[in-house]
Amino acid sequence: MTDTTLIDPIALAQALIRRPSVTPADAGAMDVLQRVLEGLGFSCRRLKFGEIENLYARRGTARPNLCFAGHTDVVPVGDDAAWSQGPFEAEIADGVLYGRGAVDMKSAIAAFVAAVSASPTPPGSISFLITGDEEGVAEDGTVKVVQTLAAEGEIIDHCVVGEPTSAAVFGDMVKIGRRGSINAWLTVEGKQGHVAYPQRAANPIPVLVDLLGRLQARVLDDGFTGFQPSNLEVTTVDVGNAATNVIPATAKARVNIRFNPAHRGADLAAWIEAEAAKAGDGFAGQVRVLCKISGEAFLTEPGPFTEAVAQAVAEVTGQAPELSTSGGTSDARFIRSLCPVVEFGLVGATMHAVDERVPVREVRDLTRAYEALIRRYFAAFAG
Ligand SMILES: [Zn+2]
Repeated sequence: MTDTTLIDPIALAQALIRRPSVTPADAGAMDVLQRVLEGLGFSCRRLKFGEIENLYARRGTARPNLCFAGHTDVVPVGDDAAWSQGPFEAEIADGVLYGRGAVDMKSAIAAFVAAVSASPTPPGSISFLITGDEEGVAEDGTVKVVQTLAAEGEIIDHCVVGEPTSAAVFGDMVKIGRRGSINAWLTVEGKQGHVAYPQRAANPIPVLVDLLGRLQARVLDDGFTGFQPSNLEVTTVDVGNAATNVIPATAKARVNIRFNPAHRGADLAAWIEAEAAKAGDGFAGQVRVLCKISGEAFLTEPGPFTEAVAQAVAEVTGQAPELSTSGGTSDARFIRSLCPVVEFGLVGATMHAVDERVPVREVRDLTRAYEALIRRYFAAFAG
């Protein structure tokens, strides 16, 4: 049995792009999606946290439950005048769909909805976990929806995140893991004074330089199966001292570490604090460290699930995709606590840029790949 309502992915992508849902605004985007999903027989649940709209929709009660995760929020347009098409008009020019969210990732949501509408009712459940807070601070979005669902005992067996993972051409890359990320804010407080009378001051800069040197000296690892080596980058150093004859009171810096599963965020934070204590040993001021873990590293081991995704992509492109763990963090870092996660979507080249755009053909290819995935997934995991 096939559902009678066939959804066109292009029309739905356009309807979503026309809602200017720049984080944290929703601008009616979630309503557009909810109406279409209800028309396809989904039970929709809105989960609002703070000012953020989130949606969990499910059709079916049986397992396995295959979930599609994504976000309706988008980043700001930047220089409006630099766009060749209005960023929220969703114009198609020469077979290319323009608009903020065309790649990241309203078209992928539309493609998955269209794929569901074109698929026979599977022996299990299909669900959507859609947030309006992926591009922002990501505190009232997927992380809270996941906590809510877990507390209720909702079971999601596997999840596909529709982020733009293709690198150069459509379907060349699927992401099966991500590195973790931690930021550390380092502040050295000394005592201001005249450069000619250093005994009356406590210069924070040598302490900060020593600390940064210690952090950079460590080789974190040589890589981890399927991952590149972890790396630490100093992202800013700030003293802002305009005077040539003054020892400043404060020196600050920030570092970011992208780490593979050889590390846990808490261990890295403890290491940074220990090095800060060593650098500040004997110093008349103080060294303060504030660490924030943005996400832990994770890996979905290659197996039947990653195979189903890879083969679905190959069915459309004729080529097996690379299973990669490269790139930044995504909401997959929160979903991994519920179930195995794989990410697959469009080519990311214009995401967050002026003239974000996607060839219409590519959105249709993605729809076909998601259709193949739904078929292969339930063939592999149902019953
Ligand atoms: Zn995104």
